[in-house]
Amino acid sequence: MGPAIVWFRRDLRTGDLPTLSAVAGDEVLGLFVLDEALLRPSGASRRDFLYGCLTALDEELGGRLCVVRGDPKVVVPQVARDIGAGEVHVSADFGPYGRARDDAVAREVDLVSTGSPYAVAPGRVTKADGAPYRVFTPYFGRWLDHGWRAPADTSARTVSWLDPGLSIRVPIPRTGSVSRERAGERAALARWAEFRDDDLAGYDTGRDRPDLDRTSRMSVYLKYGCIHPRTMLSDLAGQSGTGSVAFRRQLAWRDFYADVLHHRPDTARRNYDPRFDALRYDSGPDAESAWSAWCAGRTGYPIVDAGMRQLLAEGWMHNRVRMIVASFLLKDLHLPWWRGARYFMRHLVDGDLASNQHGWQWTAGSGTDAAPYFRVFNPISQGQKFDPDGDYVRRWVPELRGIAGARVHTLAGGRPDGYPDPIVDHGIERREALARYGELKRG
Ligand code: FAD
Repeated sequence: MGPAIVWFRRDLRTGDLPTLSAVAGDEVLGLFVLDEALLRPSGASRRDFLYGCLTALDEELGGRLCVVRGDPKVVVPQVARDIGAGEVHVSADFGPYGRARDDAVAREVDLVSTGSPYAVAPGRVTKADGAPYRVFTPYFGRWLDHGWRAPADTSARTVSWLDPGLSIRVPIPRTGSVSRERAGERAALARWAEFRDDDLAGYDTGRDRPDLDRTSRMSVYLKYGCIHPRTMLSDLAGQSGTGSVAFRRQLAWRDFYADVLHHRPDTARRNYDPRFDALRYDSGPDAESAWSAWCAGRTGYPIVDAGMRQLLAEGWMHNRVRMIVASFLLKDLHLPWWRGARYFMRHLVDGDLASNQHGWQWTAGSGTDAAPYFRVFNPISQGQKFDPDGDYVRRWVPELRGIAGARVHTLAGGRPDGYPDPIVDHGIERREALARYGELKRG
């Protein structure tokens, strides 16, 4: 029957790895494919983090992770032929690109799919009539009822990782960029333990405060499967504290958006709600210069600029601030959500198609369970409410470090040299956004 291949994708770990449990024999080749179709939209921070995760995985496999470069439809069957492999084991990918790729690979090799990157895989939670949910709260109720498997104990699964010396094997690449997060499975488990012990209890109250930085920052590890969500959920089992309950709910959002994208793959690029196709957007030189100011964190709105600069510096942004900067792009600058989503996907280390596109569509009002279209975040009052002492803004906007307390949001005493005037008037643009949205609702 020959050795098996475990083809790693979004499961860069060895613990709790159902694909490994599914392998019958003892000889296994661990394979990762550097696929340009997935690398191209990623910025340097995400690629760097990925390469760090691959390096960590390679160490776990005794230096035997076989990394190849190319189109998986070509190189996976080639590696399977070269080593005379029987089966190629994967964990399921539910994204539009991943599904098409896997269908093509399965025509060439015996592709065995076990598990997924989600606690509850897309398609599993449905209404009584089998239809998918489009509203989160009832989905969440059914998700809790559905439950998830206990983590797979793969520590007892000893296999011999092969190093067949394939000529197409390439070294794990490195970029020069620095990611704040340390990569890989051990780092993921350590970060999870730290968050669980220090910040989980206060998560429900602290999670909305970017200045406190008390969220888990597990998104980057979940992105590449350095940890599986069920490992976290099993640690939370039986806990009824408000922090644990709130955290479980956030993990369910991740599954919900994967489910939505699974049922509506077109919504990676298009409005979930087609009525929004008629929304008017700005274009021309002024719109382009507003876009550039937003990207660079130079809009003159302190919390927006702090968020955009955190994104460029860390490849991560706090969830509350993601919503504020997204609202600003859509409703103050009147630019389309997919443009902001593409920029986020380039810069976020945790960039995830389902959570990102639907996080944007939620803010735009065009998605499932979306924010009502008339909700337009006021960037100044959002700053005052969620960064009450201004610490978050001062951390990311050095020009404003000399301004004490919450005045950093209003800049009531004047703007320091070098910090821009507001590029738009929020009051005017809010009315404009409501007028444009109003045209849709009447149409
Ligand atoms: P925590 O608050 O500690 O939450 C724990 C985990 O729950 C997260 O790691 C994440 O897996 C999940 N989660 C939390 N909130 C959400 C949510 N709203 N939607 C889906 N899952 C959630 N998340 C991504 O993982 N990748 C993205 O590309 C992404 N893009 C976003 C774009 C926009 C415009 C918005 C509004 C949200 C986006 N999110 C995205 C969701 C959320 O902002 C991040 O998951 C969160 O900030 C990650 O930080 P954390 O791990 O500290 O979160």
